[in-house]
Amino acid sequence: MTEQVKQVQKTQQNSSPLKLDALVIGAGVAGLYQLHRMREMGMNVRAYEAGSGVGGTWYWNRYPGARFDSQAEIYQYWFSEQLYKNWTPSERFPAQPETERWMNYVADELDLKKDIQFNTRISSAHYIEETGSWAIETDAGEKIEAQYLIACCGMLSAPITNRFSGQESFKGQILHTALWPKEPVDLKGKRVAVIGTGATGIQVIQTIAPDVAAMKVFVRTPQYIIPMKNPKYSQADWDKWCEKFHELKQRVSETFAGFDYDFANKPWAELSPEERLTVLEKNWEDGSLSLWLASFPEMFFDEAVSEEVSEFVRGKMRARLNDDPELCDLLIPKDYGFGTHRVPLENKYLEVYQQPNVEAVNCLKTPIDCVVPNGIKTADGKVHEVDVIILAVGFDAGSGALTRIDIRGRNNRSLKEQWGEEIRTSMGLQVHGYPNLFTTGAPLAPSAALCNMTTCLQKQVDWITECIKFSRENGQDVVEATQSFEDDWVEHHDEVANKTLVVKTDSWYMGSNVEGKPRRLLSYIGGVGNYHKKCAEIADAGYPGFDMSKRPSNQKCLAG
Ligand code: NAP
Repeated sequence: MTEQVKQVQKTQQNSSPLKLDALVIGAGVAGLYQLHRMREMGMNVRAYEAGSGVGGTWYWNRYPGARFDSQAEIYQYWFSEQLYKNWTPSERFPAQPETERWMNYVADELDLKKDIQFNTRISSAHYIEETGSWAIETDAGEKIEAQYLIACCGMLSAPITNRFSGQESFKGQILHTALWPKEPVDLKGKRVAVIGTGATGIQVIQTIAPDVAAMKVFVRTPQYIIPMKNPKYSQADWDKWCEKFHELKQRVSETFAGFDYDFANKPWAELSPEERLTVLEKNWEDGSLSLWLASFPEMFFDEAVSEEVSEFVRGKMRARLNDDPELCDLLIPKDYGFGTHRVPLENKYLEVYQQPNVEAVNCLKTPIDCVVPNGIKTADGKVHEVDVIILAVGFDAGSGALTRIDIRGRNNRSLKEQWGEEIRTSMGLQVHGYPNLFTTGAPLAPSAALCNMTTCLQKQVDWITECIKFSRENGQDVVEATQSFEDDWVEHHDEVANKTLVVKTDSWYMGSNVEGKPRRLLSYIGGVGNYHKKCAEIADAGYPGFDMSKRPSNQKCLAG
């Protein structure tokens, strides 16, 4: 038993708070690295994780077919060449079980688990002005006092669970993709409903279709898709990637979306229609997200280009649907442009709808009314009888993980109430009014969506760590983004966002999937490379825009 675990138990018994220099929320991609960096600094730090294991997204989203859309060679930790070289991915886009194993490998190599408290959710965090620290409480009633609170709770970790009235009355099984059980779920021979055709729904649908007796897919907004090419990786393949480690590490921090590919074509306007088609075909054939994130940036700004690229993809989809008018009408997007929200990679997703055991229910014509004991009732009064309902209905993205914790900053200001009116951050790293609270994967940074997550999260962890280090080396204990810095960032963020077509499309990118959520593009769209440059400039200049001060009462200083 480690000293820290003993201390936790002791403090639980006498109910005086456990004192830490830093508390990290979450043990996913960002949380693990943040814990490692804080420990390297000699901090008394502990991570708290709601799950029983590490992995974050890769712990919770264990639904059939879950896998990432970033290639394995770039979905990586970059701070350790050894970690990179000693884990050989089995394919270009590994599935959830392998990624969860990889995250356990990282945690074990760095010996992180001894400083993670699992099965524990942080329920509240209140800033205490007198001590300049955070009073934190877990769902088990444990109390912790920490100077720094670093939220690594994930961008897509607050699942929308109670989407439909009557869910509690259902006699069969309801499964949410983001809360998928660890025990195997046997869907063989079952009548299954899937609600949701986002990146998650598509993966579930294409994976379970061959096994279930019957499947009803409730389709509301159709998706543009790109067929994934997922070759197996041999050790020899991986050795080749390892040779490129330093090049890739540099490259991903500079590109538009934190991938190794980037916009590098001649401008759309300078190419002939044939040349444009060649570029589109080449990217389509790559079987990755490059058609979206590395072909023509003009598709994000120019309606005409957007329409041409969209029509290119629609044509591919029509061919796969054998020009079936009903399926084409239901499954091919018409009223928003390609790439104005997340484009999923897929594998024979469209072909599923041509199987005899699969029925698509058009939720635009007949919306879901409610769940009833034996199935799903649609607005036309029909009851679709099923044994299992799979909810792939998404998340309260970006802000949800933080607003589900009772976070209160200076003057008892509630983050939930504040973000209920307007979602604002200082480059996604801090929020004015919440000193010594740092955030990763939060709104208004590219890490919120438009990024290969491992690239962006590590950069944020590095920035946060260096910022804390800098302030301590300069004898300061409290860091807080200023109001004017935040105002400027929000203005810049909106200015960049409002030039794009993304803000015109409804999706979780704009918060429009959650009723009452203030509308704003959650992810910074000025490019990962540009964002990192701005972060580095601020650090190099001694963190202007981030007030650093001494805690009011230093004798209560918790840090060593
Ligand atoms: P999502 O994109 O928000 O999709 C939710 C789906 O549920 C949408 O199709 C939505 O339809 C539907 N829905 C919600 N309420 C409904 C209702 N009342 N009736 C009918 N349909 C309803 O969520 P997600 O698929 O979980 O994906 C979220 C994000 O996670 C992705 O965009 C991606 O960033 C990430 N992700 C990544 C991967 C990967 O890397 N491969 C895989 C999965 C997820 P409407 O659009 O009409 O609202």
